Amino acid sequence: MTDRRRFLQLGLAGTAALATGCAATTLEDRNGTAPARPGAPRGPVFLSTWDHGLEAARKGWNVLQAKGTVLDAVEQGVMLIESDLGSRSVGLGGLPDRDGRTTLDACIQTHEGLAGAVACLEDIEHPISVARAVMERTPHVMLVGEGAKQWALDNGFPEKKVDLPEVRQAWQEWLAKSAYKPVVNIENHDTIGLLGVDGTGRLAGSCTTSGLAFKIHGRVGDSPIIGGGLFVDGDVGAACATGLGELVIRIAGSHTVVELMRQGMEPGAACKEAVQRILRKNPGLTEQQVGFLALRKDGAYGAHAIYSGFNFAVRTAEDDRLLESPYERKWG
Ligand code: ASP
Repeated sequence: MTDRRRFLQLGLAGTAALATGCAATTLEDRNGTAPARPGAPRGPVFLSTWDHGLEAARKGWNVLQAKGTVLDAVEQGVMLIESDLGSRSVGLGGLPDRDGRTTLDACIQTHEGLAGAVACLEDIEHPISVARAVMERTPHVMLVGEGAKQWALDNGFPEKKVDLPEVRQAWQEWLAKSAYKPVVNIENHDTIGLLGVDGTGRLAGSCTTSGLAFKIHGRVGDSPIIGGGLFVDGDVGAACATGLGELVIRIAGSHTVVELMRQGMEPGAACKEAVQRILRKNPGLTEQQVGFLALRKDGAYGAHAIYSGFNFAVRTAEDDRLLESPYERKWG
């Protein structure tokens, strides 16, 4: 199982860069934004949430190198994590809802703003691919629950039943107390979002999750909501979110970040403003995490979170590492 039960650490490359004070960008140095390199070729950039983002961003990069499109790249990058039955927050190994059912949410969006999404989908390994198929093969944007599953089966996605003893045990332990309290930076919420821009400035984004552990059956978070957990606008850039989805949905979080970039804010500043908006609207908020990533179409990127502990991966021609997001409050 991927060990994400820890606070973030810089990847080795990042640590070395910081230690030597070399030119590698740290987001802390730059108020949350890594600028595009003036005059440099706008090479591809992939950003992805949490530790598992490293693998997803690398995969996205490799898909582009193999002449795939940026849309293929963001789909295939997160498919890797969906297939990891060791993940308790993405895919069929994810922690269940309070009825013991693992339900999956995902969405994908293109440079042009076409979008597909599924919510509360069960027993399908790749919700992100169903989301893409909804976008490409139907006149709709989102399918949910039984209807989504039926449509997926009818369209060639195989049913896959997964029953993991450790997941069942976690649910039974939860049932004994039935206490519902999302925990900051612990993988009862560790959605994977992947944003990419190719060498020509074409963008795409994907987002996939099993959502909050032990949620009410039928609960849908921000992750499959276009404008909530993900938003892509080829004229401006892309953003994605992780954390307590209800907080993100209420401010249309990823859309907000992209719109702030449209108005001229740097990516990191746009993420920061979205986080601060959440805090302003929820004055009593404690112990709930939200993090945003933003990628501008020129390759500049940024991040911001409520609490320390949100990390993300960046893959560019020069970088292949985890970075720590700037934050508003120190956790712990
Ligand atoms: N945003 C997801 C949800 O609310 C969970 C997460 O990102 O951690 O379902």
